Amino acid sequence: MSAELISSFKQYRTTVDIERIRLSAVPAELQPLVKAYREALSSYLADPENESWASLGPNERYNALQAVYHKFGAQPERTRGNCSRCGGSGYILAYSHIQGGRCLRCDGTGSVNIKVDPAESATMQNGFAPRSPS
Ligand SMILES: [Zn+2]
Repeated sequence: MSAELISSFKQYRTTVDIERIRLSAVPAELQPLVKAYREALSSYLADPENESWASLGPNERYNALQAVYHKFGAQPERTRGNCSRCGGSGYILAYSHIQGGRCLRCDGTGSVNIKVDPAESATMQNGFAPRSPS
């Protein structure tokens, strides 16, 4: 469902200028995505009062698109990781202007290594040790 929404959005981008088109002219289901894209663009402006989106480069536009895909895209099928900073998604929307929002704690993987008590680890390994063939 959301994957379809993203592909409609991608398709739609190629047919109109989503930075200029009136929001009311955008198909209802795509309006939230266009809005999110524009909001992401504005967040890259150092001074939204005086600067326009025209001052932004391809990197900012790319990152803004990534922010939209992350926000509306299908959740990855893999289970979420254990990283507490990004909630296991590997992505932090608030930092979408820095390295595309990649979580720096888990390096975008969503998972961090948990320190395992060596004694407990040994017990587990023993418990699952293969039996010698009889
Ligand atoms: Zn993380």
